[in-house]
Amino acid sequence: MSARRATHRDHALVFGAGIAGLTAAAVLADHFANVTLIDADHLPESPVRRPGVPQGDHIHGLLVGGQRTLEELLPGIGAELRQAGAVTVDMGADFLLGTNCGWGTRFPSDLTGVTASRALFEWAIRRRVLALPGLTLLQKHRVDGLTGGSGVVHAARIRSSEGEVLTHEADFFVDATGRGSRAGHWLTELGYPELPQSTVDPHVTYASRTYLPPREAPDWLACYLMVTGPPQTGGGSIATIEGGRWIVTLNGLGPHGPTADEAGFLPFAETLPHPVIAEALSSAQPLTPVITTHATANRRRHVERMLDQPANFVLLGDSACCFNPVYAQGMTAAVRSVALLRAFLPQHLEGKVPAARFHRQLAAMLDTYWLLATAVDLRHPTTQGDPPGGLQRLLATGLDRLLAAGTRDHHAQHVFLEALNMLRGPASLLSPQLALRLLRAHTPRTPPTACHPPPAPRR
Ligand SMILES: Cc1cc2nc3c(=O)[nH]c(=O)nc-3n(C[C@H](O)[C@H](O)[C@H](O)COP(=O)(O)OP(=O)(O)OC[C@H]3O[C@@H](n4cnc5c(N)ncnc54)[C@H](O)[C@@H]3O)c2cc1C
Repeated sequence: MSARRATHRDHALVFGAGIAGLTAAAVLADHFANVTLIDADHLPESPVRRPGVPQGDHIHGLLVGGQRTLEELLPGIGAELRQAGAVTVDMGADFLLGTNCGWGTRFPSDLTGVTASRALFEWAIRRRVLALPGLTLLQKHRVDGLTGGSGVVHAARIRSSEGEVLTHEADFFVDATGRGSRAGHWLTELGYPELPQSTVDPHVTYASRTYLPPREAPDWLACYLMVTGPPQTGGGSIATIEGGRWIVTLNGLGPHGPTADEAGFLPFAETLPHPVIAEALSSAQPLTPVITTHATANRRRHVERMLDQPANFVLLGDSACCFNPVYAQGMTAAVRSVALLRAFLPQHLEGKVPAARFHRQLAAMLDTYWLLATAVDLRHPTTQGDPPGGLQRLLATGLDRLLAAGTRDHHAQHVFLEALNMLRGPASLLSPQLALRLLRAHTPRTPPTACHPPPAPRR
């Protein structure tokens, strides 16, 4: 094991080259002469899976809100994704959504986005970002600690895959190492107090595999049987991705979760509240084995609650907050956290970047996403976490009313789809105008079992 030291002035270091790290590096490249992006993985030249993002084997919907933010950060990325094979989807017309309250109506909408594999999303972003001037990629290097003093981080301790240890100094540091971030440990090593965390864990298991769809495809491009509360314990989704393939994910709570057993995949789909997924799979051809994961808890690292924290070290993406993936919020929250940094940086580049102020703003933004994610999860008595507050209960009831109204009313379904796609916040779902409209509509719940899915609308 050898040791060497690289020193830069006006230098930002980004730990992790996933969605948050890549987009953060693009933002920092506008402000720092040198940006070094460090990842433990070898980053492939093509859109293929890699071990550092094991979640990439599962369905990865980038919400319309996230796509719009990504487009602001990297103009033209949507077109590049389409050119690379991503599939254009109208969330109103091409997306079949079944919940405890019934089937959402389908209608041509302005909620257009793309579906693709996680590998394609990341590769398209990576291709753009790595071409930026001033950006250096250090791959196959793992960050394993920080050095610092007097309220700032001075350097990152990095270990190459060959075991060589390096120390990289910089002026600003971003931790974007994802769900498994060791930021709390690194800060404790520097003498800071323990990083407070919150966890809400509904114990969801994901099982996914890729299929070749049947020749006679259904009239939707994406389909989701979504668990919106008890007694339902299992759901599933299918999305058409590049190459015309289907990525299929089944999910279940606690002991009701799917397993990696290939022979059990279709039978699990048959237990869902409607046979739409099982029927689609029965004539499709599996292309991959079944991959499972249990790493799905909602978890926040509350840096904003630390009275004492380094002034030049920020957490972004999953490192700050990761979500139960069933609402597909993760990548959108990651790019939104980066967009927030982009708005914050120009006002604070003189002297030290006040990370504490940034973390407070980030926490305020994450509060709304957290509220949406946990409101439904906490309805399940088996969910681990603090019991739901009044706002969470109110929101869950409001969502039920909205979903029920959305089975008949395009306007209500559009409002729900906007919330699902993170284009409107929970506060707007609790507005008196909407509440009155839903109360008047008074639509009874019609579980998806009881009726046929709506056909695609005429366009
Ligand atoms: C099963 C599952 C399904 C999901 N489905 C969706 C979905 O449908 N839609 C959605 O929006 N989100 C989904 N997510 C969430 C999404 O994957 C994350 O929110 C998103 O990837 C966050 O990006 P990130 O950059 O913060 O972390 P990641 O993308 O996880 O990137 C972290 C990076 O850090 C690197 N790294 C880790 N440790 C180190 C280290 N010590 N040193 C250097 N590098 C390191 C890794 O190699 C990786 O490149 C899902 C998550 C899971 C678990």
